[in-house]
Amino acid sequence: TSGGHTAAGKEERTAASSRRQGVVLVLCAPSGTGKSTLVQRLVRDFPSFSFSISCTTREPRGQERDGVDYYFLTKEQFLERRERGEFAEWAEVHGNYYGTPLAPVREIVDRGGDVLFDIDVQGAMQLRESFPDGRYVFLFPPSRDELQKRLRGRGTDSEEAMARRLANAVREMEAAPQFDHWIVNRDLDRAYDELRAVYLAGCSRPGQQPGLLREVLDTFAGEDA
Ligand code: 5GP
Repeated sequence: TSGGHTAAGKEERTAASSRRQGVVLVLCAPSGTGKSTLVQRLVRDFPSFSFSISCTTREPRGQERDGVDYYFLTKEQFLERRERGEFAEWAEVHGNYYGTPLAPVREIVDRGGDVLFDIDVQGAMQLRESFPDGRYVFLFPPSRDELQKRLRGRGTDSEEAMARRLANAVREMEAAPQFDHWIVNRDLDRAYDELRAVYLAGCSRPGQQPGLLREVLDTFAGEDA
């Protein structure tokens, strides 16, 4: 259903115009809103996406692997890299440091690859300095009751942790006016359609397809003579 936006179609276009810039998509949401589900669908439908791999000082959890889920650093290593200006953004979240190394993301985008960011709201707004053309999306839960129900359904949190997440949700939503797009996850399919629309709109900008105009005009050129 995605027409010319299959991976193969995209590669052709990239080859024809070697300077396509990738789309930077930043998605922020209070935890429990359904962000992961939407992100999984998006990367399944658009294999052109890479995840930005963050650095963190927190301990690995469960199956997490270094260099895949995160780069796990000591606090000293993190601060050293921050000092060297390696991070496009960084933030302290729940007592740990998190940061996005700029160079790898820049490289992917310059090669024409799309990058998806799953970072907190403070970081997202710092990222605008490095990626002003990025698409900054805020995902809302439909209501407090619904968010609470979903968090309860996950069954991973104590009552206390859940209360903390609900309070955090309010704090995060206060930053929503700084985002370009608002999506409410009331109905998952609908929310996904909206997210997909934001991404496709990003792809359609002239800067994203620099060879296109010349390519099409060239097909008209012979007819004038
Ligand atoms: P977790 O420790 O559960 O993986 O992530 C905790 C929070 O940190 C999440 O809200 C996540 O979006 C955020 N986060 C992960 N990586 C980064 C990053 O590189 N920068 C910022 N600012 N936040 C991040």
